[in-house]
Amino acid sequence: MENGRKMYRDCAEILVRREEIAQAVRKLGEIITHDYEGKAPVMVCILKGASVFFTDLAREIDLPVEMDFMIASSYGSGTSSSGNVRIRKDLDIDVAGRDVLIVEDIVDTGVTLNFIRNMLSHRGAASIRVATLLDKPSRRKVDLKADYFCFTIPNAFVVGYGLDYDEKYRNLPDICILSPEIYQK
Ligand code: 5GP
Repeated sequence: MENGRKMYRDCAEILVRREEIAQAVRKLGEIITHDYEGKAPVMVCILKGASVFFTDLAREIDLPVEMDFMIASSYGSGTSSSGNVRIRKDLDIDVAGRDVLIVEDIVDTGVTLNFIRNMLSHRGAASIRVATLLDKPSRRKVDLKADYFCFTIPNAFVVGYGLDYDEKYRNLPDICILSPEIYQK
């Protein structure tokens, strides 16, 4: 597959190519810049999956943003959230009174993001919006709608552009469907 890179051998299909991603991120940056005009939002990156999207998106936003990082884990069967979310690295910035833009890689069941959004709301954020690279609405378990998203995808397990399987494939430049043989081994 693509460029003869070895990592692509584990992929069944390239779902979204890097050029399409770059175009969508650029457009989203313009929309966010417009929507938050005159404001200085705190961009919250949900590590590790959102890291690549986050840094690309931030550079397409023409506002005096602050950046902070959070690690959240949700435990389940391995492929889905259990609803039991744990914060493993919390924010450094106090979000009370701030406009917060949560940046996530993918909203699947919505459980993780729902937990984080409620937590930041309890801390007194002035506003909270969610920007996600990918949206899998067919899998939603809680009532959560991202304010901004780049792509809606079908119910498939994807890797690349920050998304992993077993900590690998995050550095694939495209978003790919992982071959089921890899995780069914
Ligand atoms: P949720 O709580 O919405 O079910 O879980 C969201 C998290 O599950 C995402 O941040 C991501 O880490 C993981 N996730 C959900 N679907 C996928 C997928 O297709 N590929 C990868 N690599 N991770 C996924």
